Amino acid sequence: AYDVLVVGGGPAGSAAAIYAARKGIRTGVVAERFGGQVLDTLSIENLISVPHTEGPKLAMALEQHVKQYEVDIMNLQRAEALIPAGDDGLAQVRLANGATLKAKSVILATGARWREMNVPGEKEYKARGVCFCPHCDGPLFKGKRVAVIGGGNSGVEAAIDLAGIVSHVTLLEFDSKLRADAVLQAKLGSLPNVTIVTSALTTEVTGDGEKVNGIVFQDRIGGQTKRVELEGIFVQIGLLPNTDWLKGTVNLSPRGEIEIDARGQTSLPGVFAAGDATTTPYKQIIIAMGEGAKASLSAFDHLIRSPAP
Ligand code: FAD
Repeated sequence: AYDVLVVGGGPAGSAAAIYAARKGIRTGVVAERFGGQVLDTLSIENLISVPHTEGPKLAMALEQHVKQYEVDIMNLQRAEALIPAGDDGLAQVRLANGATLKAKSVILATGARWREMNVPGEKEYKARGVCFCPHCDGPLFKGKRVAVIGGGNSGVEAAIDLAGIVSHVTLLEFDSKLRADAVLQAKLGSLPNVTIVTSALTTEVTGDGEKVNGIVFQDRIGGQTKRVELEGIFVQIGLLPNTDWLKGTVNLSPRGEIEIDARGQTSLPGVFAAGDATTTPYKQIIIAMGEGAKASLSAFDHLIRSPAP
C-alpha cells in the first residue's frame, strides 16, 4: 500500500507528490493526463519568480521534478471510485482499467475544466483571443477591446477587473438580467467603458485566421444578429470541478467542489484535497501548488499520528 496516493498530475498533484516523497514515504500519483490544464495554456506570466513560461514547458518541468524522487507515476489512468478506509485503515482508489490501489492517505487533486460556449470559432481561436482566466490573460489585452461572456459573479468580476486594463468591455449575458451580486452589478454599472448586453445568445467567434477579431450574437428578443469588433473574449460561464467520481464519498459543495478546511482536510479522515477541484478560492497555478504542498504536509501529519498497523 502507498503511504500517500495522489490522484491528479497537475500543479497541485505534482506539488503534493514532491512534498510526500521528500518525507521518504511511499508515494504514488495517478493521473489521467500528467500536467493537467497547464498543457492547454500557452503563455504563463504569473508564476512568481518565472517571468515567462509556456504550458507544455511547465508541464514537462513538473513531471521532471516529480521524477527526481521515488514516486510511482501512473499516467493515462483515470480514477473512477474512492472507497473510504475500513478497519485496516487503507483507503482504496479504483481505476477505470479495473485495478485498485490502496493507501494510508489519499490526496485528491483532479482539477477542473472551464465550461465552453460550444460555438464555431471558439476552439480555433483558443489562446489566440479566446481566454478563460482574466487574472492570467487580462494584461495581454491592455488598451484593446474585449467581451466577457456570462453575467454571473465571475463574469461581472472579470468585466470590472478587465475594465481597468482594456479600452472597452462588452458583457454578454444570455438571460434577460445579470445574475451577479447587486454590489458587483452596481460597480459594473458605474464604469464608463463597459457596455452590458442582456438576452444575447453568442453564436460565433470570428477571426482573421490568426487572431480573434469579433464576436457574433443574436438578440433573443428582437432576433437580429449583431457583431462586435474586438480583440479578446473571456468566457466566464462556469468552472466545472472534476469530481463526479467522488459523489457520495467526500462532501462536495453545491458547485461540486471538494470541501476542505484550512489544512486541506476533506470530510473523510486520511483524505485530503488541493487545487482547482476544491473549495479554495481563486484557481491559479501558484495557488494549486501551494495547496498541494499543504495537503501533503497534512497527510504526513495524519500518518505520524496514526497507530502503527
Ligand atoms: P489541473 O491542472 O486541472 O490538473 C488536474 C489533474 O487531475 C490532471 O492531471 C488530470 O488529468 C487529472 N485528473 C482529473 N480527473 C481525474 C481522474 N478521475 N483520475 C485521475 N486523474 C484525473 N493559471 C495561472 O496561474 N496562470 C495562467 O496563466 C493560467 N492560464 C490558464 C490558461 C488556460 C487555458 C487554462 C484552462 C487554465 C489556466 N490557468 C492559469 C489555471 C491553472 O491552469 C489551474 O489553476 C491549475 O492547473 C490547477 O491545478 P490543479 O492541479 O488543481 O488541476
